[in-house]
Amino acid sequence: MLIIFGWEKDIVDIPNFTQCYCYNCDDAKRWVLNIEREWVSFFAIKTIPFLTKRKIYCERCGDTIGINHHQYLTFKKGPIELTHFIEHAQLAKKTAIQRTYLLERRAKIDHE
Ligand SMILES: [Zn+2]
Repeated sequence: MLIIFGWEKDIVDIPNFTQCYCYNCDDAKRWVLNIEREWVSFFAIKTIPFLTKRKIYCERCGDTIGINHHQYLTFKKGPIELTHFIEHAQLAKKTAIQRTYLLERRAKIDHE
C-alpha cells in the first residue's frame, strides 16, 4: 500500500485583533494577528497539526512581535493585557534614551 504524506502550511491573518499605540510609526493603529500552522498531510489532506506560530504586527508599519500559545490564550480574553504586552515589547528593543523620548512624545500626543 502506498501512503503519500507531506507538509501543508496555512497562514491566516486576523485583522483588527486589537487597536493600540505603535511606538514604531507613532500612531494608534490596528494590529493584525497572524497564525501560521504547519500540518502533516496524508494523501494531500491536512491530518496532524505539527507546528503553530503566532505573531502580531502593526497594520501600518509591519512591526512584528511573536507571541506564544499561553500569551495568545491570555490576549483572547482581553485587550488590556495585549496593549501592555505590545508597549513593553516595542520599548524593550529601544535604549533608555529612546524609551524616555518615545514615552514623552506619546504623552504629548495623548494630551493634544
Ligand atoms: Zn506601526
